Amino acid sequence: MQLNDKIKNLEPYEPERGNFPIRLDANESFLPLPEKMQQRLAKVLSSLPLRRYPDPLAEEVCCKFADFYGISPSLVCAGNGSDELISVLCGSFTKKGDRVVVIEPDFSMYRFYTSLAECEVVSLQKGQDMRIDPDQVIQTVRENGAKMLLFSNPCNPTSLGLSREEVRRILRGVGDTLVVLDEAYMDFWDQSLLGETDKFDHLVILRTCSKMLGLAGLRLGFAVAQKPLIRALRACKSPYNVGMLTQAAGAAVLSETAFLEEARRKILNARDELYTGIKALERPGVLQVFPTCTNFVFCRLADSLRVFEFLKQKGILIRRIGKDLRITAGTKEENALLLRELQNALEAQTV
Ligand SMILES: *Cc1c(COP(=O)(O)O)cnc(C)c1O
Repeated sequence: MQLNDKIKNLEPYEPERGNFPIRLDANESFLPLPEKMQQRLAKVLSSLPLRRYPDPLAEEVCCKFADFYGISPSLVCAGNGSDELISVLCGSFTKKGDRVVVIEPDFSMYRFYTSLAECEVVSLQKGQDMRIDPDQVIQTVRENGAKMLLFSNPCNPTSLGLSREEVRRILRGVGDTLVVLDEAYMDFWDQSLLGETDKFDHLVILRTCSKMLGLAGLRLGFAVAQKPLIRALRACKSPYNVGMLTQAAGAAVLSETAFLEEARRKILNARDELYTGIKALERPGVLQVFPTCTNFVFCRLADSLRVFEFLKQKGILIRRIGKDLRITAGTKEENALLLRELQNALEAQTV
């Protein structure tokens, strides 16, 4: 038996192996659930009828999500991580040969799932400053007759964001091309379009519980769009895509609004601390730091591989993307250690 051409050379996704006391590589939250909430959660989970299938529409957790963000639950579809929703959108909302526009560098899964769906990936490359020019995006979508446009805002990995008005301009400019707007990091910024899906029938917004909400292990994400799109998404996804444990745990945590607001504040503080610390090490030609509206800091280094390996040796794992580094905000102690070793790495470099 021969694997087909499009999958025969694929490799299973493997995060960096090894024992790293400090992991600032995956943009997770550094805040554990408080003991009290853990206990409440254990009680809720232990009473679930696990012999049954879960609710295919995940109604309770969709309602809690909608409440937390102040939108209508009828506009929400839950996924097994937003990753699953990206996969369903790329796999089912396109046809073989369709052109799909991505703006790179961006979240690598967009390209991965669109190629798997045998679509033609049209990549608009960001310039040195990593900014997105809305007019250039519109032009690329139009010239190519693209069926879909996917991008993250704020962007992973660049940590930069487009304003609401800039995203609206893109939405108005691309005609009826489906726009998948991944707001995985919008909990750290204030330019969400969640409240405006009623104005755009070609917009799907993705959100995740893996970042600010601190539940990466749960695998829970949401799509928000007008009813016909949500209906189609529900029809295309696997019926029992979100497990009963995940639904219940997600609903419980999304009800803890005070805890979540506190978490947001703490992560933003940690992010500011990390940003300020790295900014102080900035030197032309050696280290350039980009502004951030996420929970991580993106920087460009003359010698990113050496610095990355140096930190790794010290037990600190971050993410390297070509000549750039992406560093997730951690606890006070983690940030302090990272900053100390980053400084050491840079000093070792200039000797
Ligand atoms: C982390 C991340 C996600 C989240 O994926 P999940 O499957 O929900 O964990 C989605 N999009 C982007 C851009 C991300 O960085």
